[in-house]
Order: sequence, then structure tokens, then C-alpha cells
Amino acid sequence: MSISDNIRFIKSQLGEAVSLVVVSKYHTEAEIQQVYDTGHRIFGENKIQDMTQKYHNLPKDIQWHMIGHTQSNKVKYMAPYVALIHSVDSLKLLEEINKQAIKHQRVIDYLFQIHIAQEETKFGVSPEELFSIIENKNFAQLKNVRLRGIMGMATNTDDTSQVRSEFSSLKEIYEQLKARTIPHSHIDTLSMGMSGDYHLAIDCGSTMVRIGSAIFK
Ligand SMILES: *Cc1c(COP(=O)(O)O)cnc(C)c1O
Repeated sequence: MSISDNIRFIKSQLGEAVSLVVVSKYHTEAEIQQVYDTGHRIFGENKIQDMTQKYHNLPKDIQWHMIGHTQSNKVKYMAPYVALIHSVDSLKLLEEINKQAIKHQRVIDYLFQIHIAQEETKFGVSPEELFSIIENKNFAQLKNVRLRGIMGMATNTDDTSQVRSEFSSLKEIYEQLKARTIPHSHIDTLSMGMSGDYHLAIDCGSTMVRIGSAIFK
């Protein structure tokens, strides 16, 4: 199977309601160009420097998503072009994104990354922290960022009942966000599901999957 066969196969499984972020973090510009040539335009990277280099060298109609842990001091490099940041995990980071967005006279879309998996290594905020950030009075002042939803990762385990329960928790938090009136928000994105668990994630209500290895295998 070629990269374009893999893309076509995965897209046929997603249906209309679920969008695909092709995770290109371990792959060259030539490989990304191959995916681009199939008509795909949304790519995810986990390092700001790598993403910025690829942004400069590849077609400008690519929508670049930052899916990795984001450090405040590097936000400036992606602020001119990033389409969606999946990994916001503090008010301080959001304030920096807002500041850089103002410099470039744009509004930057973002998701809060929610920590739900049992693994220690996964970044993100707890549901309690999420709601306390949203209720912070400084949050409402951030006019150049727009909250689109949440991103989460399940524990890396073969126990599908655990993965299902984690995805269901994320879906529940997403529904709670949708039910609220939140300044500077348009909640329509639940980013969950990777190569190993995207079927389950879609079953649990995912609207956006992030897939790397199942495409570039
Ligand atoms: C690498 C990565 C993915 C893609 O993982 P695959 O198993 O290769 O599909 C998705 N989300 C995040 C946050 C990642 O870092």
C-alpha cells in the first residue's frame, strides 16, 4: 500500500463529520508533498521549529496544526501562520498566544489539552483546571484567541474498555463546554484518536483524529 492508498482508506473510514490531521512529525518535506498531492491540506507537527521550517518550504495553503507541548517562548515563530494549536495547557501560555496573535493582527484558534490518561508523561490540564481557566477574569480579555474545543490522548494500553472510558470522559467534558457560554469561543472540535485507537475515538464522538504511523507505514 502506498501513502495515497493509506490516506484514501483512512478517509473512507472517517466519514464526513470527522476531520483528519495527518501527523507528519517524523517525515520529510518530500513525503508531506506526496500527501499534499493527494489533495490533503491539514498536517500536524509536535515541534514548533520543525513545523516552521516545513511551513516555509511547502505550499502556503497547508493548514498547520501544533499538536505537541507548546513553550511560551516559541509561540512567536508559529503565530503568523498556525491554523490550530491543540495543546494549550495554561492561562499563561494562552496569554502569550494572544499577545503574538495581536502582533500579527489575527485570531488564533486553539484547543485545551486535557489530561485524562493514566500515564504520568502526558501533558494537559485536568477538567477542574480547564473550568477554572475559563472562569478566570483574565480569560475574557483575550480577544485574539478563539477556543474551538479540547484535545486528549488515551492511555497507551490494549485494554479497550479503559480507552473507551477515557474517550467517553473527554466527550463529556466537550459537551459541558458546548453547553456553556464562553467568551471568544466557537466549540466544534473534539480532537481525539490516533493510529491505534481512532476507531474507538470516533465511536465515542471524536470530530478530529490525528494520524501518523498508519499513513506513513
Ligand atoms: C505522534 C502523535 C500522534 C500520531 O500518532 P500515531 O500513532 O503515529 O498515529 C497524534 N497525536 C499526538 C499528540 C502525537 O504526538
